[in-house]
Order: sequence, then structure tokens, then C-alpha cells
Amino acid sequence: MKEVGIGKNKSIRINMTQQTYTTSYMAYTSVQEMPEHYQTLIEQAKIATNDSHAPYSNFKVGAAILLNNGTVIKGSNQENASYPIGFCAERTALSAAASLASYEKIKAIAITAKSANNPVLKPAAPCGICRQCIFEAENKHHQDIEVILTGESGEVFVFKSIKDLLPLHFDANFL
Ligand SMILES: [Zn+2]
Repeated sequence: MKEVGIGKNKSIRINMTQQTYTTSYMAYTSVQEMPEHYQTLIEQAKIATNDSHAPYSNFKVGAAILLNNGTVIKGSNQENASYPIGFCAERTALSAAASLASYEKIKAIAITAKSANNPVLKPAAPCGICRQCIFEAENKHHQDIEVILTGESGEVFVFKSIKDLLPLHFDANFL
């Protein structure tokens, strides 16, 4: 119960508590410090940036999805002169995985970015829409997806599940 002022000499009592979210993840100082299987997937994500179509932002994003069966499926951002209809790399890769191997579970996704304007020196984080799409893929396959974030150099973050990056997520339970 808290006393909240609402004007001169006036207050009301309301019930509220302050809540806190915590997120834990692994932070590696560089790609070179990581186990080899991470390095391999990150390398594929970096290769994927070469397929990026980003003439407007010059911000090239690559994603590499590792399926349970060991297959790697890449995606890159695809911009459009009509800006809002462009696709993020993560969703391009997820769509490819769903089309090429719809029943194969997704083990991990590595995401990276490079920019002609400003070097990306910290882990590239997925946008909100992509977080929701990765979350949908987790639910579809009933398996957490490891999310690996890196830039052109510097630290690499590894999250055990997209849920760590998407608290208060929206799912089918609301429908
Ligand atoms: Zn996105």
C-alpha cells in the first residue's frame, strides 16, 4: 500500500509493488574465445551478410540458423525502396528454415551485422518483431532456441532462449 499525492493536501492509497526482471546470458570477450561450434555458426552468419540488400541503410545483417539435424540455414536483411516492407535477416532465415525443413527443430540462431557507416563493435540485437518471431519458432517446435549475438568484433552474447530477450511475451495462451 502506498500513499500517492494527487494534489494539494490530497492523497489516495493504491496497491502496487515494484517488480524486477533479470536476464542472464554468457558474455564472451571475443569470437575467438568461444567453443568451436559457436565460431562455426557465427562464421556462417558473417558470410550471410554478403547476401544482404541494404543500399539504403548500409547496415548489413546476417543470421545463421542451426537445425537439430546439423543443417545451417542463412538469411540476410533485404531492404526495399518502400522502407517499411523490408525484411530483417532473422525473419528471412526463419522463413527459409520453415520452408526448407518445416519439421526440423531449431537449435540456435547466430546474428551479426556490419556497417559501412559505423563499425558494429558490440553485439547486434534483434528488433522486437524478430524477437517475437523467434519466440514463435520456439513454441512451434517446443524447444528453446539459443540466441548468439555478435558485431564485427568485440564481445559475443549467448542467451539460452529468446524468452530471456522478450519478457512478458505474447503467445497463443492469450487467444
Ligand atoms: Zn528484426
